[in-house]
Amino acid sequence: MSTVLNEVLIANRGYVAGFDKGDLPMPPGRHFAILTCMDARLDPAKYAGLSEGDAHVIRNAGGRASDDAIRSLVISYKLLGTREWFVIHHTDCGMETFTDEIMRDLLSSSLKTASVDASGWHDCCEGPGSAEAKYIDWLTIKDQAQSVLEDVVRIKSHPLVPSDIPVYGYIYDVKSGELIEVPEATAAGK
Ligand SMILES: [Zn+2]
Repeated sequence: MSTVLNEVLIANRGYVAGFDKGDLPMPPGRHFAILTCMDARLDPAKYAGLSEGDAHVIRNAGGRASDDAIRSLVISYKLLGTREWFVIHHTDCGMETFTDEIMRDLLSSSLKTASVDASGWHDCCEGPGSAEAKYIDWLTIKDQAQSVLEDVVRIKSHPLVPSDIPVYGYIYDVKSGELIEVPEATAAGK
């Protein structure tokens, strides 16, 4: 068994032994949702003060308003009653370190994990790669405030999103843990 698999299963046995959250209702008790990055340094439960049952947290690379993130947000309000949403990107995001072109080039030559240094990303290993990466919009980020604004605007202007859901735009600072507002985004999300 892999070390990680073993560690996770042991941790889960400990979690089950003290578990007392079995009677929570499905709809989030505090009626809000957060769209944020999958970055391992971000813990939305801690940075936003969430307990089990409080809120929906939708995560992907960058915390971007992809079609699938919007699918989740629409389910979140339409069937589960959330009434306020946050878009939270963060400083030092990996999505700022590459472009669609770089990702497509890397994946076209090899599927192995790439490495990064001062001159950029490099494939370490032989192929095969795949041309499939050409068909994916990787939703990379050049500027965090701009990406938060773009995603809030996309969510607010989506035909399946009702106009009375406010969307707040923030950047999480990985050095301080602080949520820093992107005022233009929050204004666009009113
Ligand atoms: Zn990130």
